[in-house]
Amino acid sequence: MARYLGPSCRLCRREGIQLYLKGDRCYTDKCAIERRHYPPGQHGQRRSKLSDYGLQLREKQKVKRIYGVLEKQFRGYFEKAERQKGVTGTNLLVLLERRLDNIVYRLGFANSRAQARLLVRHGKIVVNGGKVSLPSYLVRKGDVVQVTEKGRTLPIIRDALEAVARRGLPAWIDLEKDEAKGRVIMLPTREDITMPIQEHLIVELYSK
Ligand code: SF4
Repeated sequence: MARYLGPSCRLCRREGIQLYLKGDRCYTDKCAIERRHYPPGQHGQRRSKLSDYGLQLREKQKVKRIYGVLEKQFRGYFEKAERQKGVTGTNLLVLLERRLDNIVYRLGFANSRAQARLLVRHGKIVVNGGKVSLPSYLVRKGDVVQVTEKGRTLPIIRDALEAVARRGLPAWIDLEKDEAKGRVIMLPTREDITMPIQEHLIVELYSK
């Protein structure tokens, strides 16, 4: 399946919430969802009641879009979450949070997860001193994630780091801003994931 290349704001409008896909713009009054709070398309302004299946599907699409993951990969995370001990829905979200592109975004090295993915793919990120160019790499407790020396001179990374205070840093990671270096001090818990997500709906969808 091909990656979605259309307008990001359309995805937020479809899900009815801010998914923060466009970096700085998401925090301004230019945010499309502030201006047009209804689904895109010709029939977007019609009111329609979703079935249970529709609600479950929308929740899955929302989470996939937040983390920029395609269907097959998302299913893979779900299956992995099911095999782990504990609550499947929570495991799923924790796995997604542990992705390297997410950590790069959370640490403020990028303004969006899409930008973070590019930085990782272009070899601008090292984990425990070694270059990792796989956005789906799962970080572990104690991992040190840093921007390469060359990467630190890039204006997009410097600008993103300046904006990190606005988004706030999760409690499970620690940032040395001057060094563009972060450490995973513990794995995230459900409480650390603050986006409005009803993961039980995704579990119900995949359990049919
Ligand atoms: Fe979503 Fe950001 Fe576009 Fe707002 S500006 S609709 S949060 S991508």
